[in-house]
Amino acid sequence: MAEGNLMRQIPKVDSLLAMSCLSGHSNATQAAREELELLREGIRAGTISAIPSMEELAERVLARLEQEEIPSLRPVINGTGVILHTNLGRACLSEAAVEAVAKAARGYSTLEYNVEKGSRGSRHDHVASLICRITGAEAACVVNNNAAAVLLVLSALTKGKEVVISRGELVEIGGSFRVPEVMEQGGAILREVGTTNKTHLSDYAAAITPETGALLKVHTSNYRILGFTETPSLAEVVELAHENGLPAIEDLGSGALTSLEPYGIWDEPCVQSSMEAGADVVTFSGDKLLGGPQAGIIIGKKRYIEAVKKHPFARAMRIDKMTLAALEATLRQYLDPAKTREIPVVAMLSAEAEKLREKAEGLFTAIGEIPGTEIAVAATEGQVGGGSVPTHTLPSWAVSLLPQKGPEYLEEALRSVNPPIIGRIYKGRFLLDVRTLFERDFSHIAESLHKVLE
Ligand SMILES: *Cc1c(COP(=O)(O)O)cnc(C)c1O
Repeated sequence: MAEGNLMRQIPKVDSLLAMSCLSGHSNATQAAREELELLREGIRAGTISAIPSMEELAERVLARLEQEEIPSLRPVINGTGVILHTNLGRACLSEAAVEAVAKAARGYSTLEYNVEKGSRGSRHDHVASLICRITGAEAACVVNNNAAAVLLVLSALTKGKEVVISRGELVEIGGSFRVPEVMEQGGAILREVGTTNKTHLSDYAAAITPETGALLKVHTSNYRILGFTETPSLAEVVELAHENGLPAIEDLGSGALTSLEPYGIWDEPCVQSSMEAGADVVTFSGDKLLGGPQAGIIIGKKRYIEAVKKHPFARAMRIDKMTLAALEATLRQYLDPAKTREIPVVAMLSAEAEKLREKAEGLFTAIGEIPGTEIAVAATEGQVGGGSVPTHTLPSWAVSLLPQKGPEYLEEALRSVNPPIIGRIYKGRFLLDVRTLFERDFSHIAESLHKVLE
């Protein structure tokens, strides 16, 4: 049919809005206009040769309205087995932390108010003593994230001074956070020593001059140099720094508050050991291995922490009340080992393979049979993620699916359900690793699989 003819058949916005299924939708006008415009474009492009029925058009407007109601930032189901998945929001908060956030957000709070004295208080006080109690530090303060913490510490303590660091620790974290550039932005002068694979204590010693402001250690969270390697321990660097009247600073990155050795992870230091080694200032993340909200935690000797708190950046990087609430609640859980295990990151890290196999069987049973799809429980390997413990894989269990239409089809289809389900394709099969799944989502997973595969 000729283009002009088709154009004349396009219904008026008002007659489309009068369709019964759209009555009661106050914001349908815009959606109806957009749908009709799409029709015009299609006619002009020659891809539409007949005008759909009014019922069909009304359905499309309705679908458009429903789509618009889905929030942009919304939950997803993580079946990747990567615990601290950077793209999926890193650490999931504990129930206690979630409750604390809701309470702080809903009304007024003691954020900067001292109830006993009836006067102004400090927002750092809510968590500082807890952090000191758990880590053994003298003093503590918190900012928005660990990248901010590093920048703030360098700005406050080493501006205009040389900072000595091993060439093996000039890390890029991702999102263009590179240690050399952060040092430059913090006003410090990079003094790199040693080589990529080997740095000796004598290299640090030789670099110390009257211009030196600090010795810096950066934990190579997201990579490991293996083989012919050497680097002095934090304790040795601390001793050298103190002999020269300098502070030893460490960017620990991941910030585990419990030893990961019981979970078979031997090469991830915990915050307490940095304190025991005598570091003057240590920074780490709140939402990596600690399992709390996004935050940067700065701990160490009182005089340095006081200097950090007074720097103007501290105000620009300050943590908000919801984060503080979540952080305090999470830290409290570290005071009691039973409650520590309720922190999702800790629970996921410590889940035993046998328990995960049972969990995978539970999901397998919930899914049941799907005609045309091979479904099995399979052993797999997960990861800590978030740039933490990169060389370590976690033995895990998954439900493995092979639909007739192929694993790529399933991977894409599950991203379009709400909430989306994210898995991964491994050796031609679609895997849902149960380590990072919550049992409360099993019925949604099962229903979605039937919906997209049948
Ligand atoms: C992750 C990490 C950072 C950045 O921490 P964020 O909390 O993501 O800002 C900095 N340094 C190291 C060594 C890290 O591992």
